[in-house]
Amino acid sequence: MKFDVVIIGSGLGGLQCGYILSREGYNVCILEKNSQLGGCLQTFIRRGTTFDTGMHYIGSMEEGQMLHEYFRYFGLTEKLKLRKLDEEAYDVIRYMDREYNFAMGFERFTDTMLNYFPGEREALEKYTGKLREIGESVSMLSSGESGTNQTAYFDYFSTGIDNYLDSITGNRIMKNVLLGLSPIYAGRKDKSPLYIPMVIHLSFINSAFRFVDGGSQVSDLLAGSIEAAGGTIMRNAEVTQLNFSSGSIESVTVNNTEFIEAKHFISNIHPARLLEMAPEAPFRPAYRNRVTGIEDTCGVFTLYLSMKPGAFPYRNRNYYVFKTEDVWGATDYTSSNWPLGYMLHFSPSSKSEEFATAIIVNTYLRWKDVEPWKDTMTGKRGKEYLEFKKEKAEKLLAMLESDFPGISNATAAYYTSTPLTYRDFIGSPTGSIYGLQKDFNNPLSTMVVPRTSIPNLLLTGQNINIHGVIGVTICSVLTCSALVGQKYLIGKMKNC
Ligand SMILES: Cc1cc2nc3c(=O)[nH]c(=O)nc-3n(C[C@H](O)[C@H](O)[C@H](O)COP(=O)(O)OP(=O)(O)OC[C@H]3O[C@@H](n4cnc5c(N)ncnc54)[C@H](O)[C@@H]3O)c2cc1C
Repeated sequence: MKFDVVIIGSGLGGLQCGYILSREGYNVCILEKNSQLGGCLQTFIRRGTTFDTGMHYIGSMEEGQMLHEYFRYFGLTEKLKLRKLDEEAYDVIRYMDREYNFAMGFERFTDTMLNYFPGEREALEKYTGKLREIGESVSMLSSGESGTNQTAYFDYFSTGIDNYLDSITGNRIMKNVLLGLSPIYAGRKDKSPLYIPMVIHLSFINSAFRFVDGGSQVSDLLAGSIEAAGGTIMRNAEVTQLNFSSGSIESVTVNNTEFIEAKHFISNIHPARLLEMAPEAPFRPAYRNRVTGIEDTCGVFTLYLSMKPGAFPYRNRNYYVFKTEDVWGATDYTSSNWPLGYMLHFSPSSKSEEFATAIIVNTYLRWKDVEPWKDTMTGKRGKEYLEFKKEKAEKLLAMLESDFPGISNATAAYYTSTPLTYRDFIGSPTGSIYGLQKDFNNPLSTMVVPRTSIPNLLLTGQNINIHGVIGVTICSVLTCSALVGQKYLIGKMKNC
């Protein structure tokens, strides 16, 4: 059977493209290498506790706000189980042993920050002004067009967030606090463009929510709608080769055995992995070299805590904790001073609102640290790797205990993951969490766009636009616009 569209990978971007195109009457087939759909939306269960792997909170989900408008089209808004985070302090930045609350709403955010930095009104107004400006340019649904004005978009991508903050304030502490979300974009002083932290902060400042019982509800709902619209979803179906004929893709090989043909192909996987599956000729060498040469964002070590019932209060806030004077320094750890900070998320459960059932802690871990085990597979990496993970877990747990007294005794069991886990589950070459590292010094060379020189191949997902639920959702619309037309699609979304 020949499909209209084959989508490689069922991450958020793959599923959203599947949803859009099957709704538009395309005969869609999604091929996913894992048994569970969703990529970073995957959850796992241990001792009855559900853990998220890569989706802790989402923003702008109130009526009329950006993600809400998109999710309404995707049939998600009424069905998702969400819990709104604390409006006064949805994110808490712990820097130099003091806590700084990020509040929801532009005015409340400014007022809260002014309590800590009374002389910084002008700088804070410039900061929130820039958030609003980027917000207006980014929303395709409100503008009805391709959204971002191309000149402005280029400016936001070619300015570094670090330089921008230096231009609005000389207050070093406030600058570090405003950079406190950097772990949610794996920020780099020498590379991170203004655009990425601004879009992320913007989405949360409007409103911020957690998924109750896990983010995989998004993938389950999207998959159900795709199948209801006649789409096909194949699990345990790893695409191993792209087969070309006259410069276009004719079929993909699945699990080295089966051929699946289609008129169009959309890749939701890391572009370097995609290129490995193609013969040399169809892609221009310059494209191949550029894309495979883009650095990945840093990986993480994750500690998943399963909490004893009724033992540790649930907190409706996320914590970004830094042990360095310069928050950018958190990735520059050595084996003796690791970790230099972490982000901590409580996972809400329908079982209890008062007490924590699961706590997830992420801290940077470079690929180089796990490279010795790169030729091993999950569950079969050997004793030394288990000892390496145990040592890391105990160090991190000791730090947590001093920051959140009582957390160790309240923990029933813990589980861990490293960049190797992400490499094997998501398929990113170095287990990076947010895909390709964008660089404001070279915005064009670190940018990969949905269209390729192969006439029937499009790209989507976090490596293309920006990562996170907002970035991936916007990218899905851009990718599908190449098939159905942008004005038409945006019109459909606005009027659904
Ligand atoms: C630790 C962590 C925390 C995060 N927290 C947040 C958060 O709080 N809020 C937020 O908005 N975002 C967060 N993100 C980012 C967000 O989860 C991702 O940006 C987004 O889910 C990526 O979606 P994607 O479409 O790029 O696909 P991916 O999630 O990258 O999925 C790709 C899919 O392709 C499949 N695949 C790979 N190779 C093949 C192949 N050869 N054949 C078939 N299938 C294949 C994979 O198995 C996977 O299912 C977080 C990410 C991580 C890792």
